Amino acid sequence: MRPRLPSAAKALVALGAGAGRAGAAARAVLAALPGPWALPPVPARCAVCGAWPAQPVCEACVARFAQPRLRCRTCALPVAAGVVRCGGCLREDPVLARCHAAVDYGYPWRGIVAEFKFRGWPGWAASLALLMRSAPWVEPALEEADWVLPMPLAPGRLAQRGFNQSLLLARRLAPRKADPGLLLRLRETAPQAALARAERAANVRGAFAAEPLRAAQLRGRRIVLVDDVMTSGASMSAAATALREAGALAVDGLVFARTPQPL
Ligand SMILES: [Zn+2]
Ligand SMILES: [Zn+2]
Repeated sequence: MRPRLPSAAKALVALGAGAGRAGAAARAVLAALPGPWALPPVPARCAVCGAWPAQPVCEACVARFAQPRLRCRTCALPVAAGVVRCGGCLREDPVLARCHAAVDYGYPWRGIVAEFKFRGWPGWAASLALLMRSAPWVEPALEEADWVLPMPLAPGRLAQRGFNQSLLLARRLAPRKADPGLLLRLRETAPQAALARAERAANVRGAFAAEPLRAAQLRGRRIVLVDDVMTSGASMSAAATALREAGALAVDGLVFARTPQPL
C-alpha cells in the first residue's frame, strides 16, 4: 500500500503562490524519501490548529504560516521590497555567500522546533526539510552544492540529545551530500540565547574546524551548511569561517527558522 503523502507536501503541491517551484520541490523530496514515511508517532491532528485528520501540520496552516518572505541575501533577515542585503550585512561583509530560511522563528514554528529538537521527535525532519527545500533559491543551492553539512553538536550535547537535529535535516535535504564528519565542533559553547550580540561572536570563535584528515575534500568545494534555527548567525558564521579556512570555495547557510529581528 502506498503511504500517505504528508500534509505539508500536499499543501505545497497545491499552494497557488509559487506552486511551480514548491510543487516540484515537494515531488522531488517525496520521490527521494524511503517508504513508508519515517514519521514519528506524531499526533493525527494538525500540531498548530488541531484540524483533523492532518499530520503533522495541515495544509491551511502551512499556507498561513509558511509563506515565503523577502529576505536579506546573506543573513535571511526579512527585508523590504527592493532590498537585497540588510544594513548589517552591508556593514560587515558576511562569510556566508547566501543564506536561506523557510520561516520566521515564531509562532507556530518555535513550538514545533522544540518538539523536533528537545522532545525527541526527530521524524519531524521530513516535514521541516520539505518546507526548507521549498523556500526560494534553496533547490538550486542544494543542486550546486558538493556537500550539505550539518552544524555539528559537541559530543557531550550529542550524547545528551541522542541525535543531531541538523544532520537529520541535511540527510533529508540531500542524502548523498550530507556528511557529519567533515566539520567538527571543537568545544562546547555557552548557549547563545543567553548572550548579548557581541558576546555571541566571541563565544563561538574557534569553536569549529574542518576534520584535518579530510580537509582535501573541502578544497574548492561549494558547501551548504544546515541548521534548524538561526538567531544571531554567529555560530553559522564561525563554522563557515572554518570551512573557508580549509579551502571551501563558497559556503551558503540554510536554516529552517530565522529569528526575524536582529539580535
Ligand atoms: Zn492546521
Ligand atoms: Zn543581512
